[in-house]
Amino acid sequence: MRKLMTTAAALTLAVGLAACGGGDSGSASDGGGGKGTIGVAMPTKSSERWIADGNNIKKQLEDAGYSVDLQYAEDDIPTQVSQVENMVTKGDKMLVIAAIDGTALGDVLASAQSSDIPVIAYDRLIRDTDAVDYYTTFDNEKVGVLQATSLVDGLKARGKAPYNVELFAGSPDDNNATFFWNGAMSVLQPLIDSGDIVVPSGQTKFEQAAILRWDPATAQKRMEDILTSTYASKKVQGVLSPYDGLSLGIIAALKGNGYTDDDLPVVTGQDAEVQSVKSILGGEQYSTIFKDTRELAKVTVEMIKAIAEGKDPEVNDTKTYDNGKKVVPAYLLDPVVVGKDDVTKVLVDSGYYTQADLK
Ligand code: BGC
Repeated sequence: MRKLMTTAAALTLAVGLAACGGGDSGSASDGGGGKGTIGVAMPTKSSERWIADGNNIKKQLEDAGYSVDLQYAEDDIPTQVSQVENMVTKGDKMLVIAAIDGTALGDVLASAQSSDIPVIAYDRLIRDTDAVDYYTTFDNEKVGVLQATSLVDGLKARGKAPYNVELFAGSPDDNNATFFWNGAMSVLQPLIDSGDIVVPSGQTKFEQAAILRWDPATAQKRMEDILTSTYASKKVQGVLSPYDGLSLGIIAALKGNGYTDDDLPVVTGQDAEVQSVKSILGGEQYSTIFKDTRELAKVTVEMIKAIAEGKDPEVNDTKTYDNGKKVVPAYLLDPVVVGKDDVTKVLVDSGYYTQADLK
């Protein structure tokens, strides 16, 4: 009886997972992959977005008749390097890579190149090598512009300048982090220069604001340190945060220092991760940036199909992403800002989340 129940429970779980789109489609292409294997290297499962990216690519590739070798490296650079090495050794047909450290893959990609394995940099640019063929991503500079614009809108809605603001940046080894920062600073620097925005910690350089590996705990610690050193007799009114995980850490630090729903600053984010969307609905985090991973998977899979057919894949940017060795032809998608009032329209009506996901 006990065994029966366990089996029933496992079945229910499996059906549930499949319904969430996390499971295999069960189609004839399952594991079949008559068209060969695509190696997909993702950075980490510690953030939902990369899980969604991996699932979406896998499903779409399998539906198109490919097998998929999907690997996660838990943000460890040597692990990712050896995963990609294995893909090359096994003779995977093409590689899709979201790099942990954009500069660490040169050697392994040189061997991919000499084995004629095309490489697509996924979301994050791979740097310092000519062995990367294409890049699929979002307009990363625009992400930063949208974050800063949303921050300024939030500040203005709450009161008059000057505003006390603190700045956070992403991981310095992720090429995107600089693009987000530069985009944001194109909006914020003029306001800092005019005195409308004050950064009381004085930490206004990328190197001071950067959070290695996008680690929420590091962001929480940095926010705590800044509150202790600088905010004994003032309040922080805005925080530029480039990623939802960091925003959660930052908000935890603020609450730990006595901030409440009434005086939490305007905090931005990115990725529309469930916990942050809930935080936005609950009036804590102010906004996030939605990047539809279904669309990114789609353009990547279209690229793979085109390359396999010997055609030139569609790109829409051939000048922005110089990786130090070449300008990598890219397909850029459009990021979308999401505040409290946009959640239903942008995230639920599009089917990205259900209302129940956000309860
Ligand atoms: C991605 C962001 C993500 C961040 C942390 C960046 O490269 O573009 O969407 O928030 O990495 O995972």
